[in-house]
Amino acid sequence: MSNIKVCLDAGHYGKYNQSPAVETYYESDMNWKLHLMLKEELEKYGVEVITTRDDQQTDKPLFERGETSQGCDLFLSIHSNSSANGDVKETVDRPVAIVQLDGMGDELGQLLANCVARVMETKQAGQFYSRSGRRGEYYGVLRGAAAVGTMGILLEHSFHTNTRSTLWLLDDSNLRKLAVNEAKVIYDYFTERKEARTVDIQLKVLRKGENRGDPQIQNLQRILKDMGYYDMEVDGSFGGGTQRAVKAFQEDRAIDIDGIVGRETWIQLLTK
Ligand SMILES: [Zn+2]
Repeated sequence: MSNIKVCLDAGHYGKYNQSPAVETYYESDMNWKLHLMLKEELEKYGVEVITTRDDQQTDKPLFERGETSQGCDLFLSIHSNSSANGDVKETVDRPVAIVQLDGMGDELGQLLANCVARVMETKQAGQFYSRSGRRGEYYGVLRGAAAVGTMGILLEHSFHTNTRSTLWLLDDSNLRKLAVNEAKVIYDYFTERKEARTVDIQLKVLRKGENRGDPQIQNLQRILKDMGYYDMEVDGSFGGGTQRAVKAFQEDRAIDIDGIVGRETWIQLLTK
C-alpha cells in the first residue's frame, strides 16, 4: 500500500444537468463513470480509495459527502462545468479546480486543472480558485471536507455548454485517459513531488529591480528561456526583458499579467 487515502465524489446523482449542446450528455452520468475509473487507476498505485455513494440513483447531502473523507489525504469531487446562464458558449472550455479557502489545495488544484487541459486539449488554460459563502466555503462538499480536515477539490472537466468538450466527454475511452492521467498527478503529488513542493514553498516573490546574480532570478530566466519566452542573457538581474517575458508567460497561462513572479506564476512555471 502507498499510505495514501483518497475519497472520490461523483458530483451529482440520478440524471442531472443535461447538456444544451449535446442532448445525450448528462453531467451526472459522466461524473459517475469517471469517478469509478479514477478509483481503479488510483488503486493500481496502491492508493486506498473510498467513494461517497454506493450507486448513481441515491442522493446524499453535500456536507455529509465531504465529511465522508475523514482520515483521507484528499477529497475530490468530479464535475463538468456550465456557462453562467447555461447557454452554449463554444469559446469557453477552461478546466477549473475549485479549492478550499485555506490554500492547502492550490497546487494540486492547479496541477489537476493543467492535467485536464492537456488531456482534453482545451483552448483555454486550466485554473484554480476558491469561493467563500455565508458559512465559510461556498460549496457544501468542500465545507464538509474542511470540517474533517481534508484537502478538498472540486474539479470541473471543461464545460458541457461547449459542444467539442461535451462530445469528447461522451467517449468512454477519453474518460479513461483522464482517469489514468489524474491518478498519476495525484499519486506523484503525494509521493515523489514532496521534495519539489518544499522547494516551491521556499521560492520567493520576484519582481523588476531585483539584484544582479540572484540564483532564483537565474533559475527563473532559465525556465523562461527553455519555454521560449526569454532570449537574453541569464544574468540573475530582473530588468525590462525579464519582466516582458514574465508578462507574456502570464498572458498565455491566463493568470494576472502583473510581471511579478508570485506563488501562482511559480506554480505554473514549475509544472509546465
Ligand atoms: Zn457539477
